[in-house]
Amino acid sequence: MTSKPLRVGVFSSKVYDRQYLTAANQGRHELLFLDTRLQADTLPLVKDIDTVCVFVNDRLDSTVIEGLKAHQVGHIALRCAGFNNVDLDAAKAAGISVSRIPAYSPEAVAEHTLALILTLNRRLHKAYNRVKEGNFSLDGLLGFNVHGKTIGIIGTGKIGMAFCRLLQGFGCRVLCHDIQEQADIGAIGAQYVDLDRLFAEADIISLHCPLTPDTHYLINDQRIAQMKQGVMLINTSRGAMIDSQAVIRGLKSGKIGYLGLDVYEMEGDLFFRDLSNEIIQDDVFLRLATFPNVLITGHQGFFTHEALTQIANVTLNNLDAFAKGKSDPNTFLISQ
Ligand code: NAD
Repeated sequence: MTSKPLRVGVFSSKVYDRQYLTAANQGRHELLFLDTRLQADTLPLVKDIDTVCVFVNDRLDSTVIEGLKAHQVGHIALRCAGFNNVDLDAAKAAGISVSRIPAYSPEAVAEHTLALILTLNRRLHKAYNRVKEGNFSLDGLLGFNVHGKTIGIIGTGKIGMAFCRLLQGFGCRVLCHDIQEQADIGAIGAQYVDLDRLFAEADIISLHCPLTPDTHYLINDQRIAQMKQGVMLINTSRGAMIDSQAVIRGLKSGKIGYLGLDVYEMEGDLFFRDLSNEIIQDDVFLRLATFPNVLITGHQGFFTHEALTQIANVTLNNLDAFAKGKSDPNTFLISQ
């Protein structure tokens, strides 16, 4: 690379970010790893930094973007696919370009979705503990065959399609909904239907669309009322697509029979940290966690070796392109 190396502030970085990004960087940029989240009160940390590299719970609202502009930060490199946490209009107005990782192993998230479904259904999380304690009773572990069930998939982009492909081996009926339909959905044994039909007929509903004003609280009291009694609901997309209070009501009434979450609407205050010695203040989260038929993972759908390798390589490509000051076909700019 002939261009000037960048000083990159890598916010919300963990040991694994350091490991994979350092390996991909091969010394070409100066990566400053910060475990702090980027938000209004941490803005002073961007002093003398050319670019920030951020993740899902960094908060790049208009105040933070104004601050980045004041510190002459020229680029925001997201190391994730979703970009609901960045005010793109403010970034454009500030002349700050934004890049992301549009696809880093959709199979990683699709496989985690399947893991949540199978674990919840066969209650593996409970069986594991029971057997460890010498309790081999099967009472309370009764599951159902996924074979023959109807699966509703909302959002058939990269992850939704990867999930559809995984389901091909199960002998399910797959009903999909998307605002942009894929021409080849029939070839993988699925079909598009409207949302009303999907909610009414699906035994398992899985969310795979981005968080937008249209999908915010997509799962609310009205939609839950449309669902089958005892439905399984899975969200590996973004937490705010589900109204958590409505889902708690659905769980209490028995309408929702199983809930699998990898994301949570207030996860920014909880996830990616060890809070095992803290008093968690979020009563909604704690209520959700008490249900025996709820399984929550802390936004780990993406967390595979293949995905971290891809995230690191594409992030470095995006940084190289910004350093060279030109558009590169391999750069995933969402705003410039
Ligand atoms: P994608 O852009 O390839 O696909 C998203 C699909 O959703 C598109 O087909 C789009 O048309 C559709 N869509 C948009 N608005 C819709 C609406 N109102 N109703 C129905 N469909 C709608 O994205 P992807 O790579 O498949 O990722 C999907 C989401 O998964 C991301 O936005 C992100 O929030 C989430 N994600 C989670 C993890 C994790 O670790 N849990 C990792 C990566 C991505």
